[in-house]
Amino acid sequence: VCPVAALTEKDSIHKAIAALDDPNTTVVWQMAPAIQNTLGEEFCLPPGTDVTKKISAAMKQLGGYAFTTDFSADVTIMEEGTEFIQRVTKGGVLPMMTSCCPGWVKYMEYHYPDQLDHLSTCKSPQQMFGALVKNYLPEKIGVPAENICQISIMPCVAKKFERDRTEMESENGRDVDIVLTTREAAKLFKLRGINLAAIQEEEFDDFMGEGSGAGRIFGTTGGVMEAALRTVVWKLTGGKIDQIDYQEARGYKGLKEASVKIGDLEVKIAIVNGIGNVKPVMEDIRAGKSPYHFIEVMACPGGCLNGGGAPLTASPDMIARRMDQMYESDKNSAIRRSHENKEVQKLYEEYLKEPCGHISHHLLHTAYMDRSGEVR
Ligand code: SF4
Repeated sequence: VCPVAALTEKDSIHKAIAALDDPNTTVVWQMAPAIQNTLGEEFCLPPGTDVTKKISAAMKQLGGYAFTTDFSADVTIMEEGTEFIQRVTKGGVLPMMTSCCPGWVKYMEYHYPDQLDHLSTCKSPQQMFGALVKNYLPEKIGVPAENICQISIMPCVAKKFERDRTEMESENGRDVDIVLTTREAAKLFKLRGINLAAIQEEEFDDFMGEGSGAGRIFGTTGGVMEAALRTVVWKLTGGKIDQIDYQEARGYKGLKEASVKIGDLEVKIAIVNGIGNVKPVMEDIRAGKSPYHFIEVMACPGGCLNGGGAPLTASPDMIARRMDQMYESDKNSAIRRSHENKEVQKLYEEYLKEPCGHISHHLLHTAYMDRSGEVR
């Protein structure tokens, strides 16, 4: 929180209420993986409690279709994993760096615009979800895109900036219409008389409501890398190596490094936990001496579980408890690899056809810009 109150959270609750109360609008909800292990704290539940199905019930009670960003995190792995395999096997720009954290992407645009080719071209899971809601979902639910309002519940205010980026739209409109932070969502629930702690759990709706454990761990540092490895290693070895847990990606260290053997290939990975740790990694890349093939960067220490829009905590113990519970949610998931998500498989069969194909490039990938002139 800004000590002189010059910076305040841009409140979008009134916009969400207007959409919910408009009889001509169909609301479609998504919530980021981190929300499912943090929102309960706003309702006095223990840190990290998995409230996924309670939020699904709350979304339905408010009105609209209840979905999860875990679904599009799985789509992100299909796209980003394929992009990585192509870069490694066909000689593309390496190291490839993850692009799902808008705080990190903006940092790159500000400070390393000459290195933007290292960023994956994948949109974040929030934006992929929005693009699919406006282009894939209308036919499935029989509602035209112009009558849909896509509301996201996200762990950070940077997601509001990301929603506003000019390139985040298609001919069917903005990918995402309204972004609420975790704290705003809690306020909205309370305003509408919803007590998350007491509400009966409900399942998500069909088409974009299934998520794997891999999609869920996007919410913690190292989670995107671990999710990607689960699928990339499986695909590159034709299923011969089917490792699920990558302990080397876990934990709270500022820089985590590992070597992963995939057949004849030795893939060197790094995970940057917190934007304060990224400069030496970037300087090595700029100097052409980076040892890595694939790097995850999340701006917030601990990842989205500790995002700027999450229930406020300054306690490392609280963050550790959220993290433990998120890995527990992953362990308890019916499927734990993105490519095993049945709704994602259906999306590719019926609509996208293939990862990194023509439709994916149009809707799910993006480009970045030099913002160094904006740095004050
Ligand atoms: Fe937002 Fe922080 Fe997550 Fe990045 S790490 S997406 S800034 S909450």
